[in-house]
Amino acid sequence: MRVVYDKGIYLPEIDLWLDARRRCELSVISHAHADHIQHHRSIIATPATARIFEHRIKPTDALLLDFYETKDFGNFKLTFYPAGHVLGSAQTLIEHDGERIVYTGDFKLRAGLSCEPPEIVPCDTLITECTFGQPHFVFPDDAHVHRLLCEHVDEAFKAGLQPVVFGYSLGKSQEALKVLLRHGYSVAVHHSIMAIVDIYREMGVAFDGDYRPLDCSDVDGLVVLAPPGARNGRAMQLIENPYTIYLSGWGMDARARYRYQTDVVLPLSDHAGFDDLERYAIASGAKKVYTLYGDHAFASHLRQRGVDAEHLHPLPVMAAATPARRPSSGRRRVKDEATMSLLDLIESATS
Ligand SMILES: [Zn+2]
Repeated sequence: MRVVYDKGIYLPEIDLWLDARRRCELSVISHAHADHIQHHRSIIATPATARIFEHRIKPTDALLLDFYETKDFGNFKLTFYPAGHVLGSAQTLIEHDGERIVYTGDFKLRAGLSCEPPEIVPCDTLITECTFGQPHFVFPDDAHVHRLLCEHVDEAFKAGLQPVVFGYSLGKSQEALKVLLRHGYSVAVHHSIMAIVDIYREMGVAFDGDYRPLDCSDVDGLVVLAPPGARNGRAMQLIENPYTIYLSGWGMDARARYRYQTDVVLPLSDHAGFDDLERYAIASGAKKVYTLYGDHAFASHLRQRGVDAEHLHPLPVMAAATPARRPSSGRRRVKDEATMSLLDLIESATS
């Protein structure tokens, strides 16, 4: 099947958008991170994604589809499989004319603590993210990173510093909260993270332990958990002697702590690393692989391994600066997508 990227993935033969970044009548939404959502008239999503989408943007007509439930649209069938990225994040399987097309959305293959376990979905055509598609991005065991997080928190307390953990408000922070609670820490949670924690709980994810809304004037003995965007807020300035721990896959890069201006960056990622991206592309059995959201080098790497691979889309930040083209479908664009803040884009890319 022909696959087009034009501010979203478009499948012209079945007139279907996936994670459209322009406003559409209808788009599949793989998950509710800022660089995958837009004010569409209607969406197809898992119940958890639709709930978070509604929280982050607005109520929208949503066709809800549980994982493994197949919806027949007449000329194609659609099934969601867990992507393991954030709660409700889905890979989309399209079956059309005997062909199986899978769009991974953002995904990881390491099973997390706070979302559904991922799996490799066999297909003929694979459209895969490749955010960390360079060989030095092979992530350590999550358990190892969890231990590092606890060690840094303990060292901060011992040194009389206030541990402050930064993670993107959807997904990364819920994972970090589970880790911290599991290790017996008491956690003060920023309100934007707490709102998503409440949705996770509504969807059946338990957070057992001592956590409470963040009051920056009273954090004694608590680990502060906040989104990166909150760090320069007035309330956060009340926190004395902070020791800042940033959670991001970019922590594999030794220069990341300078880029994020933080004491340490730990590589807790909700994306697949280079090894898992390659494993998925090979194990899916796909005869054609399209890569996006990362660097073209990963598609080159796959071609060297004998896979017919093509890169569709540059990094999100670069995409935001790219002039819009007319959609190849010939549809008239209703309106340019709302301009996302650079911070949103960077945070999404670093999630
Ligand atoms: Zn994401």
